[in-house]
Amino acid sequence: MTVEKTKQIVMDGLGLKERNSGVYYGQWMGSEGKKTIESFCPINGSFLGSVTQGEESDYEKVIIAAQKAFKVWSVIPAPRRGEIIGEIGAELLKNKELLGKLVSLEVGKTISEGAGEIQEAIDIANFAVGLSRQLYGLTIASERPDHRLMEQWHPLGTIGVITSFNFPAAVWAWNALIAAVVGNVTIWKPSSSALLTAVAVSRIANRVMERNGLPPIFLLVCGSGRTVGNLLVNDKRVSLISFTGSTKVGRSVGEQTAARFGKSILELGGNNCAVVTSKAQIDLAVKGVAFGAMATAGQRCTSTRRVLVHSSIYPEFIAKLTEVYSKVNIGSPLDSSVIVGPLVNNGAVEDFKKTVTEAKEQGGRILFGGKTITIPQNENGCFVQPTIIEVPKQKGIVLEETFAPILYLMKFDSMDEAISIHNGVPQGLSSAIFSTDMREIELFISSLGSDCGIVNVNTSTAGAEIGGAFGGEKETGGGRESGSDSWKYYARRQTVTINYGYDIPLSQGIVFPV
Ligand code: NAD
Repeated sequence: MTVEKTKQIVMDGLGLKERNSGVYYGQWMGSEGKKTIESFCPINGSFLGSVTQGEESDYEKVIIAAQKAFKVWSVIPAPRRGEIIGEIGAELLKNKELLGKLVSLEVGKTISEGAGEIQEAIDIANFAVGLSRQLYGLTIASERPDHRLMEQWHPLGTIGVITSFNFPAAVWAWNALIAAVVGNVTIWKPSSSALLTAVAVSRIANRVMERNGLPPIFLLVCGSGRTVGNLLVNDKRVSLISFTGSTKVGRSVGEQTAARFGKSILELGGNNCAVVTSKAQIDLAVKGVAFGAMATAGQRCTSTRRVLVHSSIYPEFIAKLTEVYSKVNIGSPLDSSVIVGPLVNNGAVEDFKKTVTEAKEQGGRILFGGKTITIPQNENGCFVQPTIIEVPKQKGIVLEETFAPILYLMKFDSMDEAISIHNGVPQGLSSAIFSTDMREIELFISSLGSDCGIVNVNTSTAGAEIGGAFGGEKETGGGRESGSDSWKYYARRQTVTINYGYDIPLSQGIVFPV
């Protein structure tokens, strides 16, 4: 289907107009006189719609609404909060196809990946429903007679959620839905490259709150990072900043939040590597690496950016991988046979070109791709060839994350060498080993193996499930979101001591005879 036809169906279906309000504080901000940010489709460069930006005075309204809403929402029993999140999941499911296509139009994901993005938000809603009855605290044996010692988890209050363009709905859901079930209120500052998705998702969540007569807990403030983002980051009334984006911006967000003793969750860039050993099932490894490197046109934080291949299988692996690359259909992601769509915008295409040039200057040899592409009927689209570059040594540009389908290929001879190269980058998000050897696998997942937050065995670096905690180490920021016990990041732990006796016995055997 063409961009224009899809746009018409999606915008009508979701009630989006050419100009949409981008600020919600219990009501949608009036659009008159407001500056807008325009959204363009990376498939053909056409205009999709615009969203109004908030100014400082609008931001103030959002904060005040958040503080008021917290007083009501946080005291509603958690299982009831869970039911409401469940309703949001159901509404997302009803709109899954339209929202998925909007993601495709706005950031260029394939139809299947766009739908998967919304499914991830639905999965998180379901997870949050279960969690609403499992926000457990510990009871601890007290050393004092007639004393009870226990932990409880309180919501933090107002949480700022700043998101990247590449998961324009799912990352909001990871944060906002888990934070909500814990009892918090969130203020979302979405990426300026995915504002229509943010408006559509926020409307759905807020409609559920409104029809239940509940206060607005899913607030939205669109605007640039430097203005609105900066206000959120430096606001003492915002207890936690959950930031997903590049290491460069995340470093400064982390520093500013820490300077005011705010909490932060940092989900930053990755430089993910797959190790293919001599004991690998080669066809499986080729598939896993191809998916990891090319899915979402290499614009996942978990995209495979480096592959280390044992020298004994190196020629065979290259032959098989380049064959897969040569068969990949690149084009409009609205066409279901396409598996590599466009990059998000022209800036990303420039970054791709610059990186390819630098890699060549630094001794890299292009084994596949390396060029931009013009697609008939979508001449203004942001298309590039998935690219494989063989590099003699891990240095320079290879140490950086370029958000494009560029895969660096290197050779190794021993597991020690592989682990050393694998860990020899500043980032630590996702990793993979392809092997059938138990000892190689166990070494890779041991404390002396991969230094990443996520390790995969015989599957891709990309494609995490929501049930596990998601995040990475080193310059990836150390945050954890989504499943497992990540909910604790959105809560403050309180240790409670209750004396139900008639005396004041002291701990550590201390006496205080008054
Ligand atoms: P980006 O850093 O350019 O922008 C992220 C967000 O930060 C946007 O909403 C932007 O408006 C905002 N921002 C910019 N300047 C700001 C400032 N001074 N103060 C506050 N906010 C500011 O990232 P992007 O290009 O949208 O996304 C791609 C990056 O995100 C990649 O590096 C990718 O690896 C990373 N990412 C990481 C994860 C993870 O979980 N580790 C997940 C998705 C994406």
